[in-house]
Amino acid sequence: MSNQPHVLVTGGAGYIGSHACKTLAGAGFVPVTIDNFVYGHRWAVKYGPLVEADLADKNRLRGVFSDYPIEAVVHFAAYTYVGESVENPRKYFQNNVTNSLNLLEAMIDANVMPFVYSSTCATYGDPETIPLVEDHSQNPVNPYGESKRFIERAARWFGEAYGIRWAALRYFNAAGADPEGEIGESHDPETHLIPVVIEAALENRPHVAIFGTDYSTRDGTAVRDYVHVADLASAHLSALKHLMDGGASGAFNLGTGRGHSVREVIASVERISGLKVPVRDKGRRPGDAPELIADPSRAAEILGWRPHFQDLDRIVETAWRWHSREEK
Ligand code: UDP
Repeated sequence: MSNQPHVLVTGGAGYIGSHACKTLAGAGFVPVTIDNFVYGHRWAVKYGPLVEADLADKNRLRGVFSDYPIEAVVHFAAYTYVGESVENPRKYFQNNVTNSLNLLEAMIDANVMPFVYSSTCATYGDPETIPLVEDHSQNPVNPYGESKRFIERAARWFGEAYGIRWAALRYFNAAGADPEGEIGESHDPETHLIPVVIEAALENRPHVAIFGTDYSTRDGTAVRDYVHVADLASAHLSALKHLMDGGASGAFNLGTGRGHSVREVIASVERISGLKVPVRDKGRRPGDAPELIADPSRAAEILGWRPHFQDLDRIVETAWRWHSREEK
């Protein structure tokens, strides 16, 4: 087995997980993916070994820690559809909470302490102040956000009691694809704005439904902070190194600090593709905040992380190249 440091990546076959594996491998780590392929893709596991297993399987999970010299864990595996979480909270608490606790227990038993956790701005709930800082109150408004907040808290208590050392990375809106075109976003069903707009431009769906045109924003549509997936991946590497070098546990927002409205995203796709995107105005989607923008300064100060992609068109360009390629 290689002497390079091994990192267990749960959900390494998923959208953000696979990009993180690429970045980790590029930095000299061996990313050991564990994935159950409920949403992950086999084609996305290219940068290290694969263990096909579910985090509900405690024995398999323990086995991974004895089969590989794991030094740290980066935990992506989770269900992430907000709407579904409201309809089926059991599913979300079972996977995102119970299975994550299995993982933390296996880590403690194996004496593996660094834990980089995929959290979300959905842990904040309705923003009281924009941009959002990490100390903003956390009152999630859906079971997805609640499940993520629970594991942030569990990590903190497990840190005090057992020595888990954690970084909770609160993503804003992940977007784009690998700039080298090796991997990209592929959800089924696809609900995220940028791929949906690109599908409409490519005539793979009839139109884009704009969820809400009466928000008190500059053009009436909701504003989000779109952060490139390769930048998210590099933040995981920075957080991992921070923890492995003995840095303090904490939560970090990952966003650019800039907001773009739904109409601005559509205009960007039209510019990059040269195609017209048909739209229909629809009512607001329940649970959507009018505006979510990160204050990413803590990640800059403590992790030295700065997003390389600052411009929406450059982010959309990588997504466009991925979704419009000939072969999947
Ligand atoms: N959105 C939209 N039409 C769509 C998908 C999304 O108008 O078909 C809006 C959505 O209401 C939100 C923004 O685009 O304001 C980003 O949505 P997405 O689902 O990509 O991410 P979220 O912010 O919900 O995590």
